[in-house]
Amino acid sequence: MKKEKYLGVYVSTLNYDEIIADLKTRMAAGEKSTIIAVNPEKLIAAGKDESVKELINSATYQIPDGIGVVLASKLKGGSIKSRVTGIDMMERLIQFAAQENHRVFLYGAKEEVVKKAKENLEAKYPGLQIAGYSNGYVQDHEALVKKINDSGADILFVALGSPRQELWIKKYMNDLNVKVFQGVGGSFDVFAG
Ligand code: UDP
Repeated sequence: MKKEKYLGVYVSTLNYDEIIADLKTRMAAGEKSTIIAVNPEKLIAAGKDESVKELINSATYQIPDGIGVVLASKLKGGSIKSRVTGIDMMERLIQFAAQENHRVFLYGAKEEVVKKAKENLEAKYPGLQIAGYSNGYVQDHEALVKKINDSGADILFVALGSPRQELWIKKYMNDLNVKVFQGVGGSFDVFAG
């Protein structure tokens, strides 16, 4: 994976299309992948706490969500040319899922928010299979893992805020049959409109 390092944090140099192409290969090989958005808040948190830095660095793709990383790359002659934002990455993955019949699960946000986000995304992308959803305030995580696995989802978006969502993914990813995991912060609220 092509990466650069800023303040001790890895950042992927791939654009949206390159990430999707790479993910396709990894999914076909049965490999699990995680996507985390790198923004100023995460860089600050990583600087204060080594475990946050390790959490970020252990992801498959650290996408350059903030403009700061893009500018830093330009200044040092790196190859990150433009932002890859968490919300746009999610939407690209949704389009990819609709085109290639992958099943999507949405976990996070309030019940009415995640439900509305599902409805809006399905209306926008005909053929999209949102196999299931859950609000982000459930207590029984074992039951949730079963629900996600029973849905047959291979792409999971987790919207619990940071670092809660990344910690949740790390804790449960081995129990899940999901292939692509993305922590998406407040994105369900945006899609719910
Ligand atoms: N959230 C959740 N469970 C929690 C705490 C937060 O589902 O226990 C949701 C919250 O409803 C909101 C999202 O997580 O939809 C947090 O978004 P925020 O914008 O705070 O995250 P950020 O993008 O800043 O990481």
